[in-house]
Amino acid sequence: MIEVTGLRKHFGDTEVLRGIDLQVKKGDVHCVIGPSGSGKSTLLRCVNLLEIPTEGTVRIGQERLEFGKGRVKEQAIRALRSKTGMVFQRFHLFPHLTVLQNVMEGPITVKREPRAHVLERAERLLDKVGLAEKKNAFPESLSGGQQQRVAIARALALEPDVLLFDEPTSALDPELVGEVLKTMRSLAEEEQTMVIVTHEMEFARDVADEVLFIDEGRVVEQGPPSRLFTQPSAKRTQQFLAKML
Ligand code: ATP
Ligand code: MG
Repeated sequence: MIEVTGLRKHFGDTEVLRGIDLQVKKGDVHCVIGPSGSGKSTLLRCVNLLEIPTEGTVRIGQERLEFGKGRVKEQAIRALRSKTGMVFQRFHLFPHLTVLQNVMEGPITVKREPRAHVLERAERLLDKVGLAEKKNAFPESLSGGQQQRVAIARALALEPDVLLFDEPTSALDPELVGEVLKTMRSLAEEEQTMVIVTHEMEFARDVADEVLFIDEGRVVEQGPPSRLFTQPSAKRTQQFLAKML
């Protein structure tokens, strides 16, 4: 489903990603953990091509692009990006649109889908994230946890092959984290393919099929949570987990 090979990203002289490989099967959940500045956000941004990789290949479904060997067409980048949905730490909802309009916006303006069709899907998604009765509210009247759930519904409305989450709960008040994690757990149960950067170790342990520990732009260690959290083999993983668990 997703295959990333030899991914490198430089910003000027700084090499932020130093050859990352990532393979996610359809329906699987991968959690990415690692210290601040290790390149987790940059990795997600390279997978959905918000950042253009310096080198490496990115494949999602049938779309595959190779970087570092000549110019890649903007159209091909958009095609690949449209296979992903991204949920950020801050929710980035459109403040002047209602909850329902926020969820419908992408499919209508980007994909030019028929309105009635999109409306039906948006209402179903809002129901799924537990916000059916908030559909006519504006984002500012919602809690952070509710806004993040709208952001998840909005990402799902574009029917992406994979959802990418960049620390979706770290901007939330502690009492609001649970409701967002619960929504993500139910998506995992429905076999939504996801790559999740998170500091929520308990969530990663319960939900991830695979956990990747990233440090200094490399995957130091990866494996199922049952092993990685209990018997990390690399010293750096052990040190990181000792601080987190
Ligand atoms: P955090 O846990 O704090 O979110 P992270 O693992 O997501 O950290 P990144 O945001 O991917 O880390 O950043 C990795 C490194 O790349 C950092 O040193 C950062 O300063 C650098 N970096 C990220 N984006 C840019 C950019 N646009 N230009 C220059 N340097 C950048
Ligand atoms: Mg980050």
